[in-house]
Amino acid sequence: MRVRTPLFAALAAGSLAVAALGAAGSATHAATAGDTRTVEYFPSDHGAGRHARVPTSVPEKISRISQAQPKAPGATAVTPLQETGPSDGRLDLVIIGDGYTAAQQADFRADAQTKLDAIFAIEPYKSYKGLFNFWLVDAVSNDSGVSGDPTKDVVKDTAVSSYFFCDDIERLLCVDEKKVDAYAQQAPDSDIVFVVSNSTKYGGAGYSGLTSTAGHTGIATMSSDNDRSYLIGAHELGHSIGLLADEYQYAGYGTYPGAEPVEPNTSKLTADAMSASQSKWYRWLGQSDPSGGTVGTYEGGGYYEYGIYRPTANSIMRALDTDKFNLPGREAMIAGFYRDADLLTARTSTARTLRTTDTLRVDLAPLAKGLSDVRVHWYVDGVEVTRAAGRHALNGRALGLRKGGVHQVTATAVDATAALRDPAARAAATNSVTWTVR
Ligand SMILES: [Zn+2]
Repeated sequence: MRVRTPLFAALAAGSLAVAALGAAGSATHAATAGDTRTVEYFPSDHGAGRHARVPTSVPEKISRISQAQPKAPGATAVTPLQETGPSDGRLDLVIIGDGYTAAQQADFRADAQTKLDAIFAIEPYKSYKGLFNFWLVDAVSNDSGVSGDPTKDVVKDTAVSSYFFCDDIERLLCVDEKKVDAYAQQAPDSDIVFVVSNSTKYGGAGYSGLTSTAGHTGIATMSSDNDRSYLIGAHELGHSIGLLADEYQYAGYGTYPGAEPVEPNTSKLTADAMSASQSKWYRWLGQSDPSGGTVGTYEGGGYYEYGIYRPTANSIMRALDTDKFNLPGREAMIAGFYRDADLLTARTSTARTLRTTDTLRVDLAPLAKGLSDVRVHWYVDGVEVTRAAGRHALNGRALGLRKGGVHQVTATAVDATAALRDPAARAAATNSVTWTVR
């Protein structure tokens, strides 16, 4: 399913801030202008992020030797590492290997599995893994390893031309976006792409707000054999799925000059004002947080030092020395999952009128025990049949229907997780199918 995020607010704010202060070069035009775009990177594997404006094309010394080109759609092997449902009801995560030769495709699959295992051990990814499909694309590189590893002068011919020392920043691992797009098109659908680059060197990057033919709006790159690079992917999904802001700040940025941010995890309001106006994360104020400490309003975030607040002292959206989303962040992530994925799907077609003896079946996404708390309810003409609660398959007779009338039968799944407090998020975590039964 397409991730419906037309504007990537966090990065847009970041690029404005970067451009205004001239902190990352002289280019100040929009990210979509064609020749440069803003990407996020993490100079330290335990620290806050930075942003840089990088060329959308790879350096000439790399492109000159690049022989590997994406083949026509369907020509590259794609493995469904996890397929829990149809793409229109799932988040489709495409994983592309770079710097793996034909003989190293098994290594790629093992490395991709390791990354996914690490990311999906983090809540709320862990509980909601069943809302994702994972597609592994076997991009074959002519060379093993990637450019800029171990040193800047190293040039490799690889499938999507990933390279360290992007914009002269050692830990910034850029890619050829067009090649990524071409490989991602091999998968049935592409909401978010991970590029796993064959390297032991720490590094990665986050690309957001993209427009791609394959459909994805974000790319996260990460090195394969560095055991902390997965945190880059986990953080970047926070932007693209949870629409979360960065909770870190830049020294010297001073006071936040803008209007109330649109992101759910930064605010101009202090706790009292937030409570009084019942806005942002007021429902979580004072709660003990998974990141340690208590949810409140901590000054600094969204790149600015003063006049803007974040929910907790630390979180994965602030620094990679923790893998914890804070409570407001976690809620936004779960709401994001449900914005693009369906908990419940009809296995029995809703397209035709059924008889009372026909079995009505639903499939539930296979969510893990943990945060999720899913319940199924059945309704006949809007009135719940309580004795049917929890059933995944039944016929009209079990719902008390007899021949002679025409009825609307609805199955509803709701995630009653305590991790959602916003009624709008709860509504997004509820979905229904309706059949006509005669
Ligand atoms: Zn970020």
